[in-house]
Amino acid sequence: PVLLEFDHVSFRYPTGGEILRDVSFRVPAGSTTALVGPSGAGKSTILALIARLYEVHGGRILLHGRDIRDYPLAELRAALGYVEQEAPVLAGTVRDNLTLAAPDVAEHAIRHVTASVNLDDLLARDPAGLDAPVGDGGVLFSGGERQRLAVARTLLAPGELLLFDEPTAHLDARNEQALQHGLTAHAAGRTLVVVAHRLATVAHADQILVIDDGRSVAAGRHEELLVRD
Ligand code: ADP
Ligand code: ADP
Repeated sequence: PVLLEFDHVSFRYPTGGEILRDVSFRVPAGSTTALVGPSGAGKSTILALIARLYEVHGGRILLHGRDIRDYPLAELRAALGYVEQEAPVLAGTVRDNLTLAAPDVAEHAIRHVTASVNLDDLLARDPAGLDAPVGDGGVLFSGGERQRLAVARTLLAPGELLLFDEPTAHLDARNEQALQHGLTAHAAGRTLVVVAHRLATVAHADQILVIDDGRSVAAGRHEELLVRD
């Protein structure tokens, strides 16, 4: 079954021109869809529209066949996990960050997810440091660590549709590939839409959409897109 559908979506920010032009695609339940394409193409905007941070100005976005505008916002947000590009770290410890949205999560799940996003080092960091508040005077996280923490937090939370905006922006190619694979491995049957900046790292995706200048210009599996290239 189709979980998410873009049906001839167009969009412009209040301040500017057309950003998305007649974008249509379907995301099957339980699949991984990767969005690739040049910077400024509209990939982040697609995720923001799914999370209903903005309203589309043409077409519809359907979740379970129902227009997302017909969902109470709280119900829509509960169905989603969304890691924005500059993912915030919450005040508190690493563990607080991981369990806030999933207080009853099992210890082995925490270990498993943190290992797959390469955060075990953070969990193991000096306890005095871990207990300190994040931010001024507390533990400082690198951009990559903040992002991996947000990814782990979202994987542990219960959303059925997980949106990741360049979760690998701070990583080199090898670690990017590892994290992209980790995402799918930990999705555990849930549905993923992931923005990636290298086609090669999303070879495992069920579907890759190439977004260019606000249009969906190609869609297919990795090997299909390579042949057409
Ligand atoms: P991508 O994720 O593919 O790099 P974005 O979706 O971030 O692309 O941006 C698509 C276009 O929308 C770009 O031209 C960008 O400058 C513009 N844009 C992004 N956010 C805003 C905003 N809040 N207001 C106005 N324009 C924006
Ligand atoms: P990443 O590739 O994950 O973004 P960085 O190279 O930015 O990592 O950071 C490497 C290490 O330096 C990390 O352990 C991080 O916590 C630490 N670090 C990054 N920025 C700061 C900072 N401003 N003050 C102290 N430690 C920092």
